Amino acid sequence: MSRIAYVNGRYVRHSEAAVSIDDRAFLFADGIYEVIEIFGGKLIDEAGHLERLNRSARELLLKLPVGERALKLILRELVARNGVAYGHVYLQVTRGVARRDHFFPKAGTPTTLVAFAHRSDRAAAEAKAQAGIKVISLPDIRWKRPDIKSTSLLPNVLAKQQAKDFGAYEAWLVDEEGFVTEGSSSNAWIVDADGALVTHPADSGILRGITRARLFEIAAAHQIRIVERRFTVVEAKAAREAFITGATTLVMPVVAIDGEKIGGGAPGPVALGLRAAFHGFAPASE
Ligand code: PMP
Repeated sequence: MSRIAYVNGRYVRHSEAAVSIDDRAFLFADGIYEVIEIFGGKLIDEAGHLERLNRSARELLLKLPVGERALKLILRELVARNGVAYGHVYLQVTRGVARRDHFFPKAGTPTTLVAFAHRSDRAAAEAKAQAGIKVISLPDIRWKRPDIKSTSLLPNVLAKQQAKDFGAYEAWLVDEEGFVTEGSSSNAWIVDADGALVTHPADSGILRGITRARLFEIAAAHQIRIVERRFTVVEAKAAREAFITGATTLVMPVVAIDGEKIGGGAPGPVALGLRAAFHGFAPASE
């Protein structure tokens, strides 16, 4: 089955899907995006992702080209046409096509909507979770609005590649005061000596992860306390456990930071327990 993507009202072969070289996202990374998990053919936490998309659009004065009903239909159509049982849908909205100029395109210029679906290897993801991942710490050199899910991801991409070059999977970004904000494509968590989950407050310094938000409910049901406060790399290295969250990684245990083992170098029971519980809590689309 050939892969099908959605581009501005049309379903096209993924390999032939294209936007203009005058598209604002190509020229300025002037766009926003979302990544939603597909689990058992259903979209997970769709409402939260679409709410965040709307917020990103509002913050950047972007108008979505289709309403929520249409967008939901497009996402379902992509899942169906691509026959994805486990994977993700990616959707991106850009400020549209206009002759290159920093000023916004003239009013009424249609915004671009692109979406596609990816299949993922569940067994490989589970094996990864059972082994745990390594992270490195790097300075957070992003702009001051990472709470907006913008496609301007150059610092994130550079950090992620540096992590890979170091033999790690993720980079934890550290602000100027020495506190971990989040990962290059995930939220960062530790389990402190009292067994409480600690994560950076959801202010403008991090992306308010949809997986992160869902964890509050799961933790409460397991009588686990969550404390939203900043933590340093030194504190993280001494933590009982560490993990990351995101729609692509779910809850993923961290077993080393900057080459130093966390919690004996094996995934901890809290992280693995939260991972196992996740789909029992996160709502799936009808
Ligand atoms: N922070 C960043 C920088 C991310 O790119 C992501 C992944 N989208 C997350 C956090 C996690 O967000 P979510 O749980 O909504 O996938």
